[in-house]
Amino acid sequence: MSSNLQQLKYPFSVSARQASTRLARDLGALVKLLEHPDNHYIIEEAERRVYAAITQSEISFSDMRDEKEVLVYPTARVIVEEIGNAKLRALQAEAESKAVNRLLGDEESDFVEDLATSSFGWKVESLGDLHKRAKMELALRSFEFRIRFENFLEVAPDFHADEWKLINRYVDRGWVLIRRKELNRLISGRFRQIIVFGQLDIPKLSRRLTEAVHRVEEEVKGKIRQYEPVKITGQITSAFPPCIQEMYDKSISGTGNLSHDARFALAAFLLRIGMSEDEVNKVFGHSPDRDTRLIEYQVGHISSKRSISSESPGYTPTGCKKLQTNNLCPVYLGLTFDPLCEYVLNPLAFYSTRAWELSRTPPITNHSWYSKSKDKKQSF
Ligand code: SF4
Repeated sequence: MSSNLQQLKYPFSVSARQASTRLARDLGALVKLLEHPDNHYIIEEAERRVYAAITQSEISFSDMRDEKEVLVYPTARVIVEEIGNAKLRALQAEAESKAVNRLLGDEESDFVEDLATSSFGWKVESLGDLHKRAKMELALRSFEFRIRFENFLEVAPDFHADEWKLINRYVDRGWVLIRRKELNRLISGRFRQIIVFGQLDIPKLSRRLTEAVHRVEEEVKGKIRQYEPVKITGQITSAFPPCIQEMYDKSISGTGNLSHDARFALAAFLLRIGMSEDEVNKVFGHSPDRDTRLIEYQVGHISSKRSISSESPGYTPTGCKKLQTNNLCPVYLGLTFDPLCEYVLNPLAFYSTRAWELSRTPPITNHSWYSKSKDKKQSF
């Protein structure tokens, strides 16, 4: 990979990173370089790239005017990091990774293999052309590559479809067989992680860059919905999914002690939907084994955490899979059933859909629309 355009398209590649470092060895040097009027176009391009992320429109790439255009991506990252809005960062990661996934679709297989191995140190091998693969078992012929399982597992757990579970894959002595499209997905997924979890040490910004940050901030205010806690009311409580309802009832009625996992799941959920710490403490105040100070400490601890991809308080509430593993999902245990459970992976997703249904006038009670508008995520 040598062209400047390739560096622009794949900013995580070795060649793009080397080119960026040659021009600006660190972010301090980048900010300095961007102060020069000849380089202001890089800030403008970066701003456009961030706007594309906010509106989730396609990131486009023109032919390079000069080699410095490789600095557009790090500049866009600096703008987003300076704003410090986790949702904006998540949108940037999503837009950048989608662009990479789309662009990889047009590349030669050799190039994609080389990109995966050189950029991330992954072990990926081609299984040969159609002629060579014709000697393989029929069921395996559609797989063009194999990747070491540890590299596969760096990204695959981020994808929820069953085909990404290792248990559903052909694995041969530590190698997972994958199709070319899946390799594209793994690469773009890894790039997404780099943006979501990468920490940048932002230096003091120049005037021009600060102006760009302010403009983007204004745009963010209008376009990105900030977290607004939903007030708990009698009606909204009835939007609880079966798992939360059971834990909530048990706790409120004082009819049993919740396990540590259940307490955690319930507290994280209630805090996330907008209950105050005091209200959550009261929910736990009825349990037979209550230890007020311990409860307050635990609730305070859960509340003080912030998830990486959310502006809202508290841990991300426990997902369905984990609740099922811990015997806390009554639907999975066959004790009750709600059709919405088949379409969600987290009780929070259940809650927002059901609360919306209940908020309509009259409330929506016919749930047949799930099968038409939602993807099935689990079956019982
Ligand atoms: S499927 Fe998920 S939301 Fe529904 S009851 Fe089970 S854990 Fe709760």
